[in-house]
Amino acid sequence: MQIGIGYDLHKLVKGRRLILGGVEIPYPQGLLAHSDGDVLVHSIIDALLGALGEGDIGQHFPDTDEQYKDIKSLILLGKVKEMLKKKGAEIGNIDATVLAERPKIAPYVKEMKENISRTLKIEKEKINIKAKTNEGLGFIGKGEGIAALAVVSLKVVEKWKRR
Ligand code: MG
Repeated sequence: MQIGIGYDLHKLVKGRRLILGGVEIPYPQGLLAHSDGDVLVHSIIDALLGALGEGDIGQHFPDTDEQYKDIKSLILLGKVKEMLKKKGAEIGNIDATVLAERPKIAPYVKEMKENISRTLKIEKEKINIKAKTNEGLGFIGKGEGIAALAVVSLKVVEKWKRR
């Protein structure tokens, strides 16, 4: 069993769509990033790469690379899924928390789980997504940005044991 942790944060700005867990959430602001700014998916990617011992999202999908400009983060997650497969790693579970003062995340959690489960080809029951506000404190509390944390567990089958 191998464990990984992921964290991400992006700034909320006008003129961007708000994408979390691959769901477009109606809101007057979106997350500023080279990609679609999906902090939830980014934190899950970092947790998966961490559990694999494969560095971080920036090393694999640099924000200086034009091919990743405004890319859907679910596509990047799909690429990480391929890495897992190559390394003989199976996801045990994913647990994530979104930190956002606004908008309300809970109504979208079901669809987020469906997107992530479809992309990673794992059961929805293996994915847990929680949402919290920051009680009005700090930049998250003031609605200046949204952050996400994720932890994953992987079962890695040694090469010689694979069939
Ligand atoms: Mg990010």
